[in-house]
Amino acid sequence: MSDFQIKEAPEVYDVIIIGSGAGGGMAAYELTKAGAKVCLLEAGQHYDPADPKYITQLKWPYQSPRRGASTRYRPFGDFDAAYGGWDIEGEPYTTKGDTKFRWFRSRMLGGRTNHWGRISLRFGPQDFKRYSIDGLGEDWPIGYEDVAPFYDEVDRLIGVFGTNENLPNDPDSIFLPAPKPRLHEMMLLKSNKNLGITTIPSRLSILTKPINDERGVCFYCKQCNRACVAYADFSSSSCLCKPASKTKNMDTIYYAMAREVLTDTKTGLATGVSYVDTLTLEEKTVRGKIVILAASACESARLLLNSKSARFPDGLANSSGVVGKYLHDSTGASRGGIVPALFDRKRYNEDGVGGMHVYSPWWLDNKKLDFPRGYHIEYWGGMGMPAYGFGWGIEDTNGMFADRNGNKKGGRRLWRFVERRLSPLLWRIHWYGRPR
Ligand SMILES: Cc1cc2nc3c(=O)[nH]c(=O)nc-3n(C[C@H](O)[C@H](O)[C@H](O)COP(=O)(O)OP(=O)(O)OC[C@H]3O[C@@H](n4cnc5c(N)ncnc54)[C@H](O)[C@@H]3O)c2cc1C
Ligand code: SF4
Repeated sequence: MSDFQIKEAPEVYDVIIIGSGAGGGMAAYELTKAGAKVCLLEAGQHYDPADPKYITQLKWPYQSPRRGASTRYRPFGDFDAAYGGWDIEGEPYTTKGDTKFRWFRSRMLGGRTNHWGRISLRFGPQDFKRYSIDGLGEDWPIGYEDVAPFYDEVDRLIGVFGTNENLPNDPDSIFLPAPKPRLHEMMLLKSNKNLGITTIPSRLSILTKPINDERGVCFYCKQCNRACVAYADFSSSSCLCKPASKTKNMDTIYYAMAREVLTDTKTGLATGVSYVDTLTLEEKTVRGKIVILAASACESARLLLNSKSARFPDGLANSSGVVGKYLHDSTGASRGGIVPALFDRKRYNEDGVGGMHVYSPWWLDNKKLDFPRGYHIEYWGGMGMPAYGFGWGIEDTNGMFADRNGNKKGGRRLWRFVERRLSPLLWRIHWYGRPR
């Protein structure tokens, strides 16, 4: 390319943050509040759930040309607040050998927090000391008591509902009032009590009471996956990036796919970020004194591996050679069933928050079981607005259906363990990671 040139912005920022999801948004919020001049690089587009351009909340299926069905770029349906997917143009990836890994990525302000489940649980004291308990993995060098004050601060900031239960490994918090269980959840509470399965109100970051003037309160439309016009659900875009921008201390660059962290040859310190403008495919550089990688776990590892130089031939922060290895995913499985006792009941609005009102934290004693750690169970069911398709729509109309979704708790060698190594070769040949 004869006319290829790298465009460099003149300003030197205090901090450059790559990615605006849960991690990047929190860094942006805190740093801009403290007065730092920040540049936020986001590979995806702008998003504001209250901007009419993006609103899908409370829309009827017939208001979508596809009746709400999904597309490659809207994988959870036309109304869902997830822009991205498993298969993103220009961003291929490989897996090692015959291993399988489906990598879901969001490409938008706020990353995956726009459509996540808002389940906001803390690590418990045992989660920091697992090796001491079951001999698997490693103990953390810190304990629950070290992070508890920060959990408190975050829970106050984002607003989490729940109840204090004094459970050994599911710590209490500063909770907002929890919504009442609905009929199918009352039935679950009753039967689980008989079975000895601990079942308690959910812990979701949804406002059931006002916490500030910027965000409204939940009006129970059951559609958090579409994101909330009232900002009553937590997302990084609405609750962190938006206030950070308001400070005027932050410039956000959209469609900016970071390619590499640039470093000073003498000191080895970061000097900026090279990124590709995904609309024009131009390569650009932004300069800063500090660079924060918050592009999600796999993508941040890719960036480190791709940031090679004479001083860092294996990539940045990779002298140990473990960057991109030992990635661990959380897995889930679900089961559903018809509850005859719910047949022929009166129709009424059974919407609630955008998620389950009760759940079961891990309740059994692992010493008596042949596997370590555990899982939690999320319960779904009840009546709701019918949607496109069968399996996620029509069964909601009569409320006879109940579903259990078991989510495994993190732990090595637990039922399925995803261990792979990112393939630097492939990363380096696609658009946004060109070889140097
Ligand atoms: C369907 C679903 C439901 C979930 N539900 C829950 C839940 O209920 N509770 C829970 O605790 N967790 C949940 N999670 C997980 C949670 O959403 C993630 O752990 C969390 O969002 C990770 O934050 P992050 O900042 O690391 O990454 P993300 O939130 O993914 O943000 C990364 C951002 O970086 C941007 N980016 C990526 N690469 C680059 C690049 N090279 N240059 C510039 N920008 C880049 C992306 O576009 C994105 O905006 C869920 C996830 C999914 C997919
Ligand atoms: S359920 Fe509540 S928080 Fe979620 S989108 Fe509806 S009104 Fe907003």
